[in-house]
Amino acid sequence: MQNVESGDERSADQKIQDEQRMAKAMDLANRAFAANEVPVGAVIIDAEGRIIGEGWNQSISCHDPTAHAEIQAIRQAGQSLTNYRLVNCTLYVTLEPCTMCVGAIVHSRLSRVVFGALEPKAGAIVSASNLFEAPYFNHRVEWSGDTLAKSCGELMSSFFSKRRAALKGQSKVKKIEK
Ligand SMILES: [Zn+2]
Repeated sequence: MQNVESGDERSADQKIQDEQRMAKAMDLANRAFAANEVPVGAVIIDAEGRIIGEGWNQSISCHDPTAHAEIQAIRQAGQSLTNYRLVNCTLYVTLEPCTMCVGAIVHSRLSRVVFGALEPKAGAIVSASNLFEAPYFNHRVEWSGDTLAKSCGELMSSFFSKRRAALKGQSKVKKIEK
């Protein structure tokens, strides 16, 4: 089992609060799912506990390779605070962020990141690399993984099995057409 905590153990209360906020991120991931986008959702909470940013994966529908859930949420949070720094804010995202999103998280000065499922191929926090630990970053981000990881992961696997089934269906149709 990989270590999915950067710092001290979370308190029981913190864990419950993290799960409630992750459930909100999962709702947004479901919007991506409904639009046939990889189901990842994200929310950003400020120091007072208010939601200031929401995002879900929209790369295909926006014709924008940067339209990951985290980036969408970061953009909205910047607008909400009219500030390009998201100091004392926490990002919740259903999947371990990629290299691009980790870069954006550092640039935005988010204080903390909580993610759901691991992304074994391209996750840039613990799986494929540990970018938050990179010595060239001048901002440290606290992070925790494994929050509603099972449900977040199941959402991903059901999306990909649905997509595989659809592709299979398409190839059958093509064979019949021939
Ligand atoms: Zn990303």
